[in-house]
Amino acid sequence: MGCLIEISDLRKTYQVGDEAVHALDGVSLTIDNGEFVAIMGASGSGKSTLLNILGCLDTPTSGSYLLDGMEVARRSTTELAHIRNSKLGFVFQSFNLLPRTRAVEQVELPDLYLGRLNHAARRRRAMELLRRVGLGGRTGHTPAQMSGGQQQRVAIARALMNDPPVLFADEPTGNLDTKSSVEIMNLFTELSKEGITIIMVTHEDDIAAYAKRQLLMKDGKLIRDEHR
Ligand code: ADP
Ligand code: MG
Repeated sequence: MGCLIEISDLRKTYQVGDEAVHALDGVSLTIDNGEFVAIMGASGSGKSTLLNILGCLDTPTSGSYLLDGMEVARRSTTELAHIRNSKLGFVFQSFNLLPRTRAVEQVELPDLYLGRLNHAARRRRAMELLRRVGLGGRTGHTPAQMSGGQQQRVAIARALMNDPPVLFADEPTGNLDTKSSVEIMNLFTELSKEGITIIMVTHEDDIAAYAKRQLLMKDGKLIRDEHR
C-alpha cells in the first residue's frame, strides 16, 4: 500500500489571552494509501485542527508532517495552496458552494486554478463527475435549486475534479438528513473501493462505522486507533 501520511508529535497551540490552548497535544500516526479513516471525538477535542493540518489548510506549531514523503509542516501558504490544488480534495459540512453558480461550473473550478485541461476537456470531465455522483440530470442547477444531499454531491464532484489521491471531509453529513447521509457514505465507500484515500471527521458513530479505521481524539490527544 505505502505510507501516505506520517505525523510525529504534532502540536498546535493557540494563545487565548493568558491561556495556552493545546488544540493538538502531541499526535503521532501514519495513514497508508487507500485507507478510509474516521476521526472521532467530542466537540473541542481537536478533530478539525488535525484534519486542517493533514489537509494543508493549516500548519502545526511543532512536530513533523510527511505527506507522500515530503515534509510539509513548515511550508509557506503559497506552497500549501499548490499542494492542496494538485493533490487534495475537500468536502465540508456546509458544502462551501458558490451561490448562483451552476453545478457544472462549481465542479470545473479546481481545474480553472490548476489549468490542466482545455475548456472542452474540463467541461467533459465535470459532466462525467456529476454523472458519477448521480447528478447527471442536474448539471445546470444552482445550489438554491438543490437539496442538501445534492449540494454535497456537487461538492464531492468538485473535490474529485483534479483527481486527488486523497479526500478530506469535515463532518460531511453534519447538515444532512439520515437518507442523504447514507447516500453520501455509500458514495464514499465506492470511492474508497476505487482506491481514493478518505480521511473524514465525524462525531457520529453510525457515520464513522462506514470507515475501516476509527481514530478517537480527546483533549488534543489521539487516545484510540481501531481497525474494523
Ligand atoms: P473539534 O473539531 O474536535 O470540535 P477543534 O479542532 O475545532 O475541535 O478545536 C480544538 C480546540 O482548539 C478547542 O478547544 C478550540 O476551542 C480550540 N481552537 C480551535 N481553533 C482555535 C483558534 N483559532 N483560536 C483559539 N482556539 C482555537
Ligand atoms: Mg470541528
